[in-house]
Amino acid sequence: MKFLLVAESRDGKLCDVSHELLAFAAEAGAEYAYFQVGSEESLPCCDATLYLADRERYGEYSPDLHKELILAAVEWEQPDAVVFMHSSYGWDLAPRVAVALQAAQVSEVVAINDGEYEVGCCNGKMRRSVKPTTPRVVLTLQSGAFNQKEVSGGTPQIVPLEIEKAGGQIDFIGYEEAEKKSVDLTRADIVVSAGRGVGKKENVPLIADLARALGGELGGSRPVVDAGWLDHSHQVGTTGQVVSPKLYMACGISGAIQHVAGMKRSEFVVAINKDRDAPIGEIADVLVVADVMQFVPALIARIGQQA
Ligand SMILES: Cc1cc2nc3c(=O)[nH]c(=O)nc-3n(C[C@H](O)[C@H](O)[C@H](O)COP(=O)(O)OP(=O)(O)OC[C@H]3O[C@@H](n4cnc5c(N)ncnc54)[C@H](O)[C@@H]3O)c2cc1C
Repeated sequence: MKFLLVAESRDGKLCDVSHELLAFAAEAGAEYAYFQVGSEESLPCCDATLYLADRERYGEYSPDLHKELILAAVEWEQPDAVVFMHSSYGWDLAPRVAVALQAAQVSEVVAINDGEYEVGCCNGKMRRSVKPTTPRVVLTLQSGAFNQKEVSGGTPQIVPLEIEKAGGQIDFIGYEEAEKKSVDLTRADIVVSAGRGVGKKENVPLIADLARALGGELGGSRPVVDAGWLDHSHQVGTTGQVVSPKLYMACGISGAIQHVAGMKRSEFVVAINKDRDAPIGEIADVLVVADVMQFVPALIARIGQQA
């Protein structure tokens, strides 16, 4: 099996998440080549062919041009799958490439088993397996689903990629900074997050008390935000903030991939969950099997005694 991995750059710098593509190829046991619109100053570390298109010439983002460049790399490489991250770059480009190749597209892949791809469904509560029937497939990978640890270094063999530059239908104007978050969890040393397991809005202040007692910030999972128990500026995860504190406490949080993607770089993770089999237990350094509403007041009292 051979993959063409589509790396991403922003402002000329390789994006971090692109390394997850390598982890996916390793997990699938696939050969791979890389594609990137970027510059030689910022390249992925890998021992593989890298089809490099010049960012100055082809732009930071131009769906039509970047699609044509990818198709040119596909022509050279003849991969079985073209693999993107499920980012704004990937989810915009992948369908264009899939249509051009008449290939099936599988979006937000979280696992691969024997040529079948697992994707989340029912708002991340369940997974379903799909098996494309086209000879070639276009995939987007859910951020955080594939571990980067096993990725080896190396220097890519660069193949400069050029196509005749035709006018695209969309011009890239620039990036616009998102509105400044009222809570900046990204710099916090300690983040204590409330999940759906806290039960109701009136219980969230207790988790805030624990955050305060530890000198940390209050975070939350998406259902807590969707229910209006917390402002979105507190949300941790793929559609919230990505945090890397020294201590992360997950209170009544199951450990869905989209949440884990936002906190997996935490140095030490404590999870409080009444279900000992909750997936958060797989990444937690300490799993406290308890009712969060009983355990947290006791913990706050204990911290108070020691202060
Ligand atoms: C495109 C997309 C983007 C998403 N982005 C995000 C995101 O950015 N961030 C995010 O968090 N989610 C995100 N999600 C949602 C995600 O898939 C999960 O649904 C969500 O993370 C689950 O939140 P939770 O763990 O709080 O709730 P649940 O999955 O309902 O888990 C609640 C947990 O609390 C435990 N519990 C229940 N009662 C108690 C109690 N009394 N004491 C202790 N434990 C208890 C349960 O055992 C369970 O493990 C996204 C989903 C999609 C589809």
